[in-house]
Amino acid sequence: MTICFVLILFAVLYFKERQRIFNVALENSIQVSNLHSDVISQELQRHIASLQTISGHQRVQEGDIDFIVEELKWLKSMSKQSVINTLFVDKDWNLIDHKSRTIKVERTEFIDDVRWQKEGYHISAPHVGLIVKTPIVALGVPVYDEYNNWTGIVGVSISVEYLAQRLSKVKLGNSSYAWISDSSGTVVSHPDTSLILHANIFEGERVGFDGFADIAVQTNWDSVGHGHYYDRRVGEAKIVTFAKIDTLPNWTLFVTTEESDIFLDINELLEDVAITSSVVIVVFMPIVFYLTNSITRPILDLTYDVENAVNNQYSMFSGYDSKDEIGQLSNAFKNTFDEIHQNNRKLEDVVALRTQELNTANQELAYSVNLLNKNNHKLTWLAMHDPLTNLFNRRALITKVHDQIQKARAHSLPLSLILLDLDHFKEVNDTFGHDAGDQVLKHVAEFFAQASGQDTLLARWGGEEFVLVVAESTLAQAKRFAERLMEDLKREDFYPVPNITFSAGVASLVSDESFDELVARADKALYAAKQQGRQCVLIAEEIGLEV
Ligand code: GH3
Ligand code: MG
Ligand code: MG
Repeated sequence: MTICFVLILFAVLYFKERQRIFNVALENSIQVSNLHSDVISQELQRHIASLQTISGHQRVQEGDIDFIVEELKWLKSMSKQSVINTLFVDKDWNLIDHKSRTIKVERTEFIDDVRWQKEGYHISAPHVGLIVKTPIVALGVPVYDEYNNWTGIVGVSISVEYLAQRLSKVKLGNSSYAWISDSSGTVVSHPDTSLILHANIFEGERVGFDGFADIAVQTNWDSVGHGHYYDRRVGEAKIVTFAKIDTLPNWTLFVTTEESDIFLDINELLEDVAITSSVVIVVFMPIVFYLTNSITRPILDLTYDVENAVNNQYSMFSGYDSKDEIGQLSNAFKNTFDEIHQNNRKLEDVVALRTQELNTANQELAYSVNLLNKNNHKLTWLAMHDPLTNLFNRRALITKVHDQIQKARAHSLPLSLILLDLDHFKEVNDTFGHDAGDQVLKHVAEFFAQASGQDTLLARWGGEEFVLVVAESTLAQAKRFAERLMEDLKREDFYPVPNITFSAGVASLVSDESFDELVARADKALYAAKQQGRQCVLIAEEIGLEV
């Protein structure tokens, strides 16, 4: 991550710095172009001034050849190597140099060029000198007589090679060089001498300078400029700046620099940085590795251990045994976890104890509830039953018969009630004792229970009186049932008590009659049966009771 960040930072810095260096180099190159075009201009200016001094001389104007040659000699000696020859041309284009060598100029491009006569000074296109036989440019100043008639030219021949040497001192970087093209675009000076007088800037593309055409066109309009092209011949991208030379109309001084040269320093810097970084990485990686192993990893492991211990109820903490801060931290965690673990165990014991107590309490409660339920059940049973015979008591019968009556009414079914009373029971008690009486009552109850069907409600009405509510039974059916019951009872053995009989009153439920009214009618029939001598069953209608 850090390495990536640093690489990105370097890349950004590199490209920003590259652009800045490029701009600075371009600026320098333009300055150098201007400076050297000025240098050339000044040098030519000096020659022009010298030539003008000579042309202004009266004896020169008078065409005194000897004097002129002397002047040319003086001029040649003054100019040292910058001037290859000094010369005078008369109006008939007869040329004489400082060594008195003469030759007739016949090249039309000179003869026809009126600028030799009209301009304050004029410079020829580069050409091979007629006398010196090397490439030169001729700089001439017109000479006029006292009547202002043109009588010739005094001039100097400047070696093209000299210009090249002069410019070769121009250095921007190792690969920088200056060169000149004349007004027609012909290369006049260049470190590559094969180009001099043979190459033209407007034909750059053809000879392998891709993109130079734009720069060449620019020189037609601008006095200063710059451009970028690719030199196919050497496989190099180059920048070029140019400036017009003041004294040479439309001559251009170029400064060319290889781009790789511009970026040489920054590339070297990049190389240095890369090497330094590599060394730093090689040296520091083991340190980083060591620190990671000795600090970061133990911290991560400790963190993992702590998380693990927390997730496992503080019981799984192993920790670090080192004597450094990690060890101390680990010990602190260990002590804390041990304490928490111990407290947890105590807490668990307390919880277990409380749970056990709660379970015991719950069991006791469940037992109590069960007992209560049983007692309640017993109480309910006792409230509903007669304790001697275990039959329903009067209250239970009243409660239960209510449903029977509703059902009978809802389905228009008959319902009959038999109220019976044991005959002369007092005598049983009196004769055999109260306990024997009780036994008889129990026996009679069992007998009635066995004889009754499922739909018959049987209850001890009180004392030695019983009630049977026979569902879906008409008055006649109920009466027959009661009579059969009596016959069967007579055959029951109550030893030592002799046969037991009863008297019974039967009544059947009529439309809006209440249970109490039904019972009252049966009771009246029973009363009548007792009156008739007992051991009989009477129904309410038979004794004249109106419903
Ligand atoms: P009757 O034919 O007119 O009914 O004569 P009875 O003797 O049966 O009539 P009474 O009403 O004079 O007497 C009822 C007797 O029933 C009186 C009482 O001692 C006896 N009796 C009532 N309840 C019990 C009981 O629970 N146990 C015993 N042993 N005797 C009872
Ligand atoms: Mg009675
Ligand atoms: Mg009785």
